[in-house]
Amino acid sequence: MKILVTGGAGFIGSAFVRKYAYDHELIIVDKLTYAGDLRRIEEVRDRIKFYKADVADKTAIEEIFAKEKPEAVVHFAAESHVDRSIQDPTPFIETNVKGTQVMLDACRKYGIEKFVHISTDEVYGELGEEGQFTEESPLRPNSPYSVSKAAADMLARAYHRTYGLPVVVARPCNNYGPWQYPEKLIPVVIKKALNNEPIPVYGQGLNVREWLYVDDCVEAVYLLLQKGKPGEAYNIGSGEEKRNIEVVREILRILGKPESLITFVQDRPGHDFRYSLSSDKIKNLYGWEHKVNFEKGIKFLVDWYKKYFYFLLLNAF
Ligand code: NAD
Repeated sequence: MKILVTGGAGFIGSAFVRKYAYDHELIIVDKLTYAGDLRRIEEVRDRIKFYKADVADKTAIEEIFAKEKPEAVVHFAAESHVDRSIQDPTPFIETNVKGTQVMLDACRKYGIEKFVHISTDEVYGELGEEGQFTEESPLRPNSPYSVSKAAADMLARAYHRTYGLPVVVARPCNNYGPWQYPEKLIPVVIKKALNNEPIPVYGQGLNVREWLYVDDCVEAVYLLLQKGKPGEAYNIGSGEEKRNIEVVREILRILGKPESLITFVQDRPGHDFRYSLSSDKIKNLYGWEHKVNFEKGIKFLVDWYKKYFYFLLLNAF
């Protein structure tokens, strides 16, 4: 299958590319923003085709479709950091909303067998201590980032309903793993701790997130590419919920660093308290299960950082 992967030089997209470059013809489209890095896909560079292009650039995207005629699209490309969206929502609307519309329109024009849109658990808004989101839960996003993702998620749904485009929506929980840009919680904590620097934690660190190892996420996305029913959304979660402070303490424990490095900072405005997904749909229909539990995944990741840390620092990653 010839698959066009947007955001394939990003954290999750690159894990998909590294894993499936041997089985499929992959065409990568990435703007290479601050969050994109070709080193992530260097090991498969001679197996893939790469286009540096903006998903919101209709002319560029149509040229790529006309030339490559992809059979499927996996749409990872996005502005992905909530804090940046609070500082300036503009690129989030441009890339996440307009970029998704441009991609969907190109698929309508050139024809496609499957379009997997990567959404997020954040589109549902926040939960209190109890409860879980199912795919039927209403979308009540709270940050400019999650609003832009919810708009894209609904556009994807609308293109199925209105135009019959074979779109499947994936809604993963928080991912962690190698090569995540060090602005997100886990790589920030590991990097600061390795450097013996203060580790900023929002509020009291009590917010709860569900954590999924990135390889498990891309396997679920691949399954949806093959089997997902057009017009349907699927949650992708591990069920492994942790308070932010627990994540930080666990990393410090593995690294043998003191908890005195933790520095509580003013909470993020509008910070969602908790996300939690019911992932019964993808489990029951397709037998997907996450394989890497948090304990194992975080240990592996800390080792990965120890191995690459100085290299990454020297190269301004
Ligand atoms: P990332 O920020 O690491 O990577 C995004 C990639 O998209 C980068 O390579 C960047 O260069 C590229 N990109 C950005 N704007 C672009 C544009 N206009 N045109 C083309 N390429 C562009 O993001 P990620 O963490 O890998 O997330 C991938 C997808 O998964 C996103 O859609 C995100 O919303 C979603 N998601 C992420 C998580 C998570 O925990 N990381 C959880 C749920 C959903």
